[in-house]
Amino acid sequence: MKGTYPYKKTCLYCGEQYEGRLNSKFCLPGHKALYHADIKRQNEEAEGEKYNRYKNVVDRLIKNCEILDDVIEKNSVPKISVTRNELLQLGFSFEYHTSIDGQEGYNVFMSFDNGLKVMGIDTYEVVTRK
Ligand SMILES: [Zn+2]
Repeated sequence: MKGTYPYKKTCLYCGEQYEGRLNSKFCLPGHKALYHADIKRQNEEAEGEKYNRYKNVVDRLIKNCEILDDVIEKNSVPKISVTRNELLQLGFSFEYHTSIDGQEGYNVFMSFDNGLKVMGIDTYEVVTRK
């Protein structure tokens, strides 16, 4: 319909005042595209930060599991005993685990399918579900 009344509007993109229709949001068609491009970029950045947050923890859990893989490979004995210090020197992160299992009254801190059975103060037995 012709004769729509101009309203005082503020562009959502650039913040400039302009005269437009009641439902108009942008002073120029290009500012609509730029506005939505900005929102898309902000959402992608937020997703990236979220992903990085989880990635850091998942990377540590994978590293823990791989450290235990190495310990299992290098020891052919059925029960592998390790100390906290030995694991710290290999880069093990004690603050991260995927679950805590109980085994014969002992707590087992799992890193995916490998775990540390708590045998005593700073002493662990390496166990695996493989
Ligand atoms: Zn504008």
